[in-house]
Amino acid sequence: MKIAVLPGDGIGTEIVAEAVKVLNVLDLPFEMETALVGGAAYEAHGHPLPDSTLKLAKQADAVLFGAVGDWKYDTLDRPLRPEQAVLGLRKNLGLFANFRPAICYDELVSASSLKPELVSGLDILIIRELTGDIYFGQPRGRRVSPDGHFPGAEEAFDTMRYSRPEIERIARVAFEAARKRSKRVTSVDKANVLETFQLWKDVVTEIGKDYPDVALDHMYVDNAAMQLVKAPKKFDVVVTGNMFGDILSDEAAMLTGSIGMLPSASLNSSSQGLYEPSHGSAPDIAGKGIANPLATILSAAMMLRYSLNQPQAADRIESAVKDVLASGLRTADIYSEGKTRVGTREMGDAVVASITKKTTKG
Ligand code: NAD
Repeated sequence: MKIAVLPGDGIGTEIVAEAVKVLNVLDLPFEMETALVGGAAYEAHGHPLPDSTLKLAKQADAVLFGAVGDWKYDTLDRPLRPEQAVLGLRKNLGLFANFRPAICYDELVSASSLKPELVSGLDILIIRELTGDIYFGQPRGRRVSPDGHFPGAEEAFDTMRYSRPEIERIARVAFEAARKRSKRVTSVDKANVLETFQLWKDVVTEIGKDYPDVALDHMYVDNAAMQLVKAPKKFDVVVTGNMFGDILSDEAAMLTGSIGMLPSASLNSSSQGLYEPSHGSAPDIAGKGIANPLATILSAAMMLRYSLNQPQAADRIESAVKDVLASGLRTADIYSEGKTRVGTREMGDAVVASITKKTTKG
C-alpha cells in the first residue's frame, strides 16, 4: 500500500504529522513517501505542483494531503498559486467525486452554531462533482467587453458547463452511496435559471430510474442553503455540482461545530483517492501548535476505508477519535468550558494512545 504524503503549507505540515503518527501505530504494511506541494513547492521548485510530486501521487494508491495556500501568494499569477496544486491533482488523477461527510459528534453538539436539537445526530454526506462546472469550463478570461451592459469596459468571464457523462457518473456514485445509507438522495441545482443545471436535473432524474429503491428529490441551491440551517437532518445524501458543492459543504461543516473536525475524500473510477481535511491552511494559526488534527486523522481513516480496503483499521481510528472526545480533550476550535484544552500534538498523541490501549487489551 503506497501512500503519497503531501503536507503542503500553513497548518498542513502540523496536522499531517499527526495523521502519519496515527497510521504508523496501526502496524500495517504502508509505504509512505512525502513530497512538497503548494506554496512550499513553489518556493523550492517554482511550481505548486512539480512533476516529481505529481508522479508520486499518480503512482500511489492514495494521497494524504494537508492544505495549501497563504495570503502572501495572492499576487502570483494564477497558475503559480498554491491552490492550483489541488485543482491539478484532481484533474490529473481524474478525481471527480468528492465525499464530504458532515457528522455532528454528540460530545460537540454545543459547539454548533445551531440549536442542539437541530444538529444532534446529524449525519449528512455531501457528494460534490469535482472536475467540471464553472471552475474548469472554457473559455474564461479578462478582456475589454465587446458588448453587454458596458461595451468597452474591462470584464471577466467564466464558463459553466457539464456534459451528460459527467453528470451520469456522479449521479451513480450518489445513488450507490445512498444505498449504503438511508436510501435518499437530494440533487441540488439551479435549473430555474441555468441551462447547465436543467441538463443536470434531467440526467439525474434519468439515472434515478435505475435505482428505484432510492428516493430522489430535487432542490434549488438557494433553498438548499436555507434548509441546511433550518432543518439539516432532513438531508441524507446531497449530490451537486462543483461550485454549489464547494459552498454547501462549507455551510454543512459549520453545522458540526468546527471545520477542524471534517474529513474529505476525492475519488476516481478506480478508487484511487486524495484524502484531506475540509479546511484550508489556516495561516492565522499556523506554527502555533493549536490546529485541530482530527479532520486529517479522520481523512486517513476514510483513506483506509475507500482506497486501501482496510475498513477495520478505519474503524479503529474513528473509534479512537470518539474516545478522545469523550475523555474531554479539545483543541481551541472545539473547546468549551469544563473541557481540557490541548494542542495539535497532544491531540494526535491521545488518538495514538487510545488505539494502542485497545490493541494491547485486544
Ligand atoms: P481556512 O479553512 O484555512 O481557515 C478558516 C478559519 O478556520 C480560520 O480562522 C482558521 O484558523 C480556522 N481553521 C481551519 N482549519 C482549522 C483547524 N484544523 N483547527 C482549528 N482551526 C482551523 O480558510 P481560509 O482562511 O479561507 O483560507 C486560508 C488559505 O487556505 C487560503 O490560502 C486558501 O486559499 C487556502 N485553502 C486551501 C484549501 C486546500 O488546501 N484544499 C482549502 C480551502 C482554503
